[in-house]
Amino acid sequence: MLYTLFLLWLLGLKAPVVVQQGNPVAVQVTTTDRGVQVRSARFMGQPVPLVWYRGQRYALVPVAVDAKPGSYPLLLELPYGQDSVVVEVVAAGFRVRHLYPKYPLKKPTVPPLPLPPDTNKPFFRARLNDWQAALPNEVEGFTLPIDSRHLQRFSGLFGDKRYWTRQQYHERRPKRHYGLDFVADTGTAVRAIGSGVVRWADDAWLRDDGVTVVVFHTPAIRSVYQHLARVCVVTGDTVRRGQVLGYIGNTGSNSKGPHLDIKVKVVNVYVHPLRFIEAFPPSP
Ligand SMILES: [Zn+2]
Repeated sequence: MLYTLFLLWLLGLKAPVVVQQGNPVAVQVTTTDRGVQVRSARFMGQPVPLVWYRGQRYALVPVAVDAKPGSYPLLLELPYGQDSVVVEVVAAGFRVRHLYPKYPLKKPTVPPLPLPPDTNKPFFRARLNDWQAALPNEVEGFTLPIDSRHLQRFSGLFGDKRYWTRQQYHERRPKRHYGLDFVADTGTAVRAIGSGVVRWADDAWLRDDGVTVVVFHTPAIRSVYQHLARVCVVTGDTVRRGQVLGYIGNTGSNSKGPHLDIKVKVVNVYVHPLRFIEAFPPSP
């Protein structure tokens, strides 16, 4: 009986998983509490985080926006050897946008901070390591960052290729938009998409991105909330899903109207925030 279940589990794993560029995909790697433990997972040469969700273990594979379409193995390290699942990456067809930044550029009210917190600069990495490692590798589900009745529309979409056409933006190549822009009135509450720990919350104005909050949900998953009017949490706070982090604003020189830019990063890959939220609905 157990062997049959185990074979079925293996066969189930063998079906290819189809995923669009920029989307995350959660591949279940245990069946029941008797399931075989996967020790680690790798995809496209990068370690893939393993997370617990509703008592099951998942390999959370972030597929980058610029991943070349094709089939790639998700490599699973098992106690007795290796196994793999085929992940088929398909093209997403991102939009091309021509944008005009605010002119003249808004002046920050305080000097801009030297680096945004989601850079991979060693300075931040060193300070992150300790407490990040202490977070549990478990997710309790995710919900939208603003109440859907307040959402007017999405302006910028995840993966947009943007050309900034003013002279001060000497960009010859398009700049990717790694967030999703929720348009809502100034002052609308911005909520944590899931429980976690606030890594960054400051009314100081990052030059382009404005007032920013960063929440870590597991050591490998973070959400970033930008262009806020103000924040109402401080760095180090433990937050619950749905807790108010701040309010919608129009801060930062890249913001042209009241909106929330939310980004979700898995390890070092930005993924589509909505597709990520949908992958882990909260328990009913
Ligand atoms: Zn944006």
